[in-house]
Amino acid sequence: MSALPQERRVITAIPGPKSQELQARRTAAVAAGVGSVLPVFAARADGGIIEDVDGNRLIDFGSGIAVTGVGASAEAVVRRASAQLADFTHTCFMVTPYEGYVAVAEALAELTPGDHAKKSALFNSGAEAVENAVKIARAYTKRQAVVVFDHGYHGRTNLTMALTSKNMPYKHGFGPFAPEIYRMPMAYGYRWPTGPENCGPEAAAQAIDQISKQVGAQNVAAIVIEPLLGEGGFIEPAKGFLPALSKFARDNGIVFVADEIQSGFCRTGQWFACEDEGIVPDLITTAKGIAGGLPLAAVTGRAEIMDAAHVGGLGGTYGGNPVACAGALGSIETMKELDLSARARHIETVMKARLGAMQEKYDIIGDIRGRGAMLAIELVKTDSPESVAAKEPNPEATAALAKACHQEGLLVLTCGTYGNVLRFLPPMVIGEDLLNEGLDILEQAFARI
Ligand SMILES: *Cc1c(COP(=O)(O)O)cnc(C)c1O
Repeated sequence: MSALPQERRVITAIPGPKSQELQARRTAAVAAGVGSVLPVFAARADGGIIEDVDGNRLIDFGSGIAVTGVGASAEAVVRRASAQLADFTHTCFMVTPYEGYVAVAEALAELTPGDHAKKSALFNSGAEAVENAVKIARAYTKRQAVVVFDHGYHGRTNLTMALTSKNMPYKHGFGPFAPEIYRMPMAYGYRWPTGPENCGPEAAAQAIDQISKQVGAQNVAAIVIEPLLGEGGFIEPAKGFLPALSKFARDNGIVFVADEIQSGFCRTGQWFACEDEGIVPDLITTAKGIAGGLPLAAVTGRAEIMDAAHVGGLGGTYGGNPVACAGALGSIETMKELDLSARARHIETVMKARLGAMQEKYDIIGDIRGRGAMLAIELVKTDSPESVAAKEPNPEATAALAKACHQEGLLVLTCGTYGNVLRFLPPMVIGEDLLNEGLDILEQAFARI
């Protein structure tokens, strides 16, 4: 493992003086619209640790938003990407191709669900992958409408802002948005009026009815859904919802697109979250965890759908950059060698037990959910019978908890439509001691706020 000591160390205030100096330069030079969760400037990172410029070592429960599951300087990623850097940095796959791109496409065909013939196209970012999945689905079906869901997040470009549910901060003031996008109810068990047991089938029936009546199934090119929601609050679509929608898509010639950009690559304890209910998507979008921190994204799917776009219709200057492809091959090698899906399932066991114990003590924890190393707690208000009955979101406690954790050297992230979800995305390679120490800090934060 890493040369970076896997130990928490807090030796200055967080952020420390050097970070504060850099933050001042940043404020003068970097656009204000680009935010940061914690203005601590990184010097080194690997395993479960981010070391800052002041020498503090933070426990990482964020993985750079579900990216560095293998660590932020995994040996195989560094080795393969460095070798590629020395050979060539770029030729453009659309000008003169290279093997790494093909090898990544072959790996994606092997790892994604389903034993049908598959092909891939590579891009730079998740948003670009989602945009291209929509382009491909439209070219294949010769239809235009795209169905998405409440609480869904798909990116920050114009089309993917339109696909994204939440206004602030992603969309506010940035319209007009792309047309022919239709948003349907999400099977959000914790907040479903008739309870979580009924949620999956009821929400699916509602969504299918609305698609049929408001859009017309024959007009729909694609249904785009996250099999385990990311930014929207780590909502697990209630059981039965995904299978019903996937069947509806199949019966109506609609391309079913699983956006696994956050949930993919061992994060949820399997290669992909859609495997949990045996879903075989027509197309799957990946990014974040794919390449150990290098920018790479992909659309992978049924060969006949992927081949529907005309030659030259897909691509991009940097798409499938050779260094990023080498990183992906190193990252996938690491996931296989260390069986990081099993690691993620172990992390779930450890964390859910501890979070469950915290919930018994602190009733503002309304819900504990997620799978593998993609877990979250939803925080609610409990100060009046009305707020309890309404499961009133508690973004204030969520922000206070995150801040208390940050001060003690534990990096945690928030999410959720109501800003009341604390999410945990530790690297799958995090040591068990660090994992437990992080949970100790979280528990102390509850006691403090
Ligand atoms: C992060 C994310 C995206 C966008 O990816 P970028 O690389 O930030 O463009 C799309 N979909 C999901 C589910 C994501 O989590």
